[in-house]
Amino acid sequence: MAATQSRIEAIGRELASVEGTSGVFGLEGLAGRVMAAALEDPVFRANLFQLVDVFPTLASPDDVARHLREYLGSRSPAWMRAGERLAERVAAGRWLLERLTRENILEMARQFIVAENPRKVVEGVARLAAHGYTATVDLLGERVLTQLESQRYLTAITDIHERLVRARDVLTLRGPLLGPPVSISVKPSALSARWSALAHDVVVDDVVQRLEPLAKAAQAEGSVLFLDMEHYDTYETTLAVFWRLLEHPGLAELQLGVVLQAYLRRHLDELDALLARLPRSHRPRIWIRLVKGAYWDTEVAQALTESVEPPVFLDKAATDRSYERSVGLLLDATDRVHPAFASHNLRSLAVVLAEAEARELDPERFEIQMLYGMAEPLASAVRRRGNAVRIYAPVGELLPGMSYLVRRLLENTSNSSFVRQRFGEHERLDDLLAPPHPRPTSVMPPTIPPGYRHTPQTQYRLQEVRRRQAEAIATLECELTHPVEVPARLGAHRVIDDARIESRNPARRAQVVALAADPDTDLVDEAVACAAKQAPALLSLDWEQRAAILERAAEYLQRHRARIVATEILEAAKPWVEADNDVGEAEDFLRYYAIMARRLARADRLDSPPGERNRLRYRPRGVCAVVPPWNFPLAIPMGMTAAALVTANPTILKPAEQTPWTASWILEAFEAAGLPSGALVFLPGRGETVGRALVEHPEVATIAFTGSKAVGLEIVARASQLRTGQRELKRVIAELGGKNAIIVDADADLDQAIPGVLTSAFGFAGQKCSAASRVIVHERIADAFLARLVAAAQELPIGDPRSPHVVIPPVIDDEAQQRILGVLEDLPSKARIAWQASEVPAEGSYVPPTIITDAPRSSAVWREEIFGPVLAVAVAADLDHAIELANDSDYALTQGIYSRSPGSIERATSAARAGNIYVNRPITGAIPGRHPFGGFGHSGVGFKAGGPSYLLQFLDQQVVSENLIRQGFSPDIG
Ligand code: NAD
Repeated sequence: MAATQSRIEAIGRELASVEGTSGVFGLEGLAGRVMAAALEDPVFRANLFQLVDVFPTLASPDDVARHLREYLGSRSPAWMRAGERLAERVAAGRWLLERLTRENILEMARQFIVAENPRKVVEGVARLAAHGYTATVDLLGERVLTQLESQRYLTAITDIHERLVRARDVLTLRGPLLGPPVSISVKPSALSARWSALAHDVVVDDVVQRLEPLAKAAQAEGSVLFLDMEHYDTYETTLAVFWRLLEHPGLAELQLGVVLQAYLRRHLDELDALLARLPRSHRPRIWIRLVKGAYWDTEVAQALTESVEPPVFLDKAATDRSYERSVGLLLDATDRVHPAFASHNLRSLAVVLAEAEARELDPERFEIQMLYGMAEPLASAVRRRGNAVRIYAPVGELLPGMSYLVRRLLENTSNSSFVRQRFGEHERLDDLLAPPHPRPTSVMPPTIPPGYRHTPQTQYRLQEVRRRQAEAIATLECELTHPVEVPARLGAHRVIDDARIESRNPARRAQVVALAADPDTDLVDEAVACAAKQAPALLSLDWEQRAAILERAAEYLQRHRARIVATEILEAAKPWVEADNDVGEAEDFLRYYAIMARRLARADRLDSPPGERNRLRYRPRGVCAVVPPWNFPLAIPMGMTAAALVTANPTILKPAEQTPWTASWILEAFEAAGLPSGALVFLPGRGETVGRALVEHPEVATIAFTGSKAVGLEIVARASQLRTGQRELKRVIAELGGKNAIIVDADADLDQAIPGVLTSAFGFAGQKCSAASRVIVHERIADAFLARLVAAAQELPIGDPRSPHVVIPPVIDDEAQQRILGVLEDLPSKARIAWQASEVPAEGSYVPPTIITDAPRSSAVWREEIFGPVLAVAVAADLDHAIELANDSDYALTQGIYSRSPGSIERATSAARAGNIYVNRPITGAIPGRHPFGGFGHSGVGFKAGGPSYLLQFLDQQVVSENLIRQGFSPDIG
């Protein structure tokens, strides 16, 4: 039988009748006043919590004063500003300010942390027991990036478990209704440094293996071991760990808990499936903690960044309803599970108790869980009704536990938080107890330009999607009994002679995956003639028709995405995610340029006084040669080709020698999209022959080149010479290399900076023009940063990217390998190798990823583009020094800064000599439309790819100025 609304309300009122206030809302003194100000002003609140987040890294009173000013500044309440001003004026004022800030932040933190160190855990949990609560203990800490850190976490949580077991007698409560007194909650992501959905199998093995001794100890002692649920990215892997432990023959008696989040759209289906899989028993050993979910903001932001529907409900009421539906399902399954309902929401708790009552369920069949320091009066009311309450009790040092504190502060003070509504704003009980009524909600924000949506990444975090990708790779490999032939394509005419360019799999050099045409320069004349003949056909299409062709080409790529990704994996050794991003970026270019082209169709109005009509219009420049590199084998050639075609220029695409097979998808896509045959000529060939002949051809008007500085300069020089029969002065768009730096400031969040630097430096073995090849770190944190960077680098999987979890594949070919190894052999004597991978696979063109310190500023590692997994680390005395070092390059492509000082970020970004500047994020991975890409200095000339001005480069402008006055009469006047 289901509970009635009137019973839910009655129980709710009974629970609400217990007087008292909740944690942070009951703070007194300064901390209390600051909290009150935070509730009133959302901007102050956001700034305050950001200050709390950075606080542990601030070393001196000066630092604290500066950050206080930068974060709170004019937003602080008047009394606070007066205090700050006073502190600045009096001697020792800053010292006092620092002490005061520290004390108050610590006081806030103490509200949520049961013990500041594991030695005090028993004391803290005993205090809870004295009030009638059991606990499940969670250990706080920084993000785990290295195996050592994960081992440390495991050792500490094992120690906590042992302490609790030894004190079991003190912690055991009287009364039959409670489960075991000892329970610990572990974060699966802290149990392996390799955590990522793509490393699913590796991570599951790793976590299960590490957890086994603790699980056995928990089994022997009859404790409950909960696996916490974190971000959605970890969802399937955490459930897989749960099942492995559950089915582990050596753990048949383990009391094991898993956490399910009601805010996930798939939650109810998963809960049904899970319950159906569990065996019935009179003594269930499985615990399910039902929560609403603590990562809502991140899940929504991450999904919207990818233009996909968030995996969570957008309306809070929908989550509440999903929670309430789960309550019934779980209470009906107490022959299989021990339900633990975690909530601080009055209505949700009342629903649990009313539903249990309607089922006449013994109070020992379920429990309520609440977070330490939140909604204490409710916990006490539930307890007084005779129901079991377990407190989720975090243990850990206050300052490193700051991210936990910030999450709790946000949760407590968010507008939709029950705790805030009840204890901060004293909302009416009727409203708080009303049933949830979800409304259809959409959060897809408007895009710029309207109608443009970035192509979502393939959702590899889902096992089914990974399975389909693995199948596509296997199928393609099976078909590769012979290398694929990649002929030149001039309309219907296919040309491939005996001379062939081999395209080899960089991970298995013996495997020739494709044989591309290697024509001599005679074919260039034919190719240009073929393309030029199609100019009228292209021009006969209007802007809209050409834009539509681009959009259909994007759809074609989308349909064949898994297969194209597989092609890139086998031909360029691109890791899964990188290859998928490359295809996604190609689609983005097509969709973005289609929209920008439609805009150009309208851009024809100029100032026109009476009697005169002035129009600006665009005309295609003529044949365009597209000469791309191999490192983004689809996206870069596609971007340049799409831009040339949508602006009605017949185009010749000469792919890079290393990746013609992948580039041939471009022709397939345009043919499928209905481009007039021959308007795009596909012309594989060598740079020094076919590439050069194209550049010099008198009928080629535009050269869209992306590649190395040396080749770019040569092309610019050759293109500047006028040749017989040439009617256009050639325009060269040249996007060249980079020597990019990331600054890591003293107050950077290393949990963010270290993975960010490693992704930027070693992703795809550093073979990106945007890759970080220099990192400049503030001397105050230099040692700690380097030690952690090196330890984290050791966890990056190196190998054949057919395995989904590989991050560092081989470099593109033997030539590149030898060149990079040569640079490493010739390091100047002062430079020091801080780390180099000791092992790389024997087969394939691997270069061991290497981190170098003390490289002189004149050395190649500091100055030249290496285009491999080589990172130089330099130490800066302060931010000005760091900026000076970062700008010490002729290249000016990308630059990054990790800092939590708004002032330092402003200073570094204004001074940066780079086309694309990234703050607190990796410096690679530009998205068309969002991060138009390209540099200056020696990094190239031209407007940014994927930006609003890019198409203009493929056009000439014409102005038509017409005098409308005839015989003293003008049709536009009067
Ligand atoms: P590369 O310069 O060797 O070759 C690029 C293209 O130029 C290839 O298609 C090649 O066949 C052709 N080519 C070579 N010699 C030629 C000649 N004499 N005349 C005409 N064409 C010629 O570069 P790569 O090794 O393929 O690519 C890596 C380089 O590209 C790096 O320097 C990287 O930084 C740069 N890159 C820049 C960007 C950017 O957006 N700025 C993006 C990706 C790559």
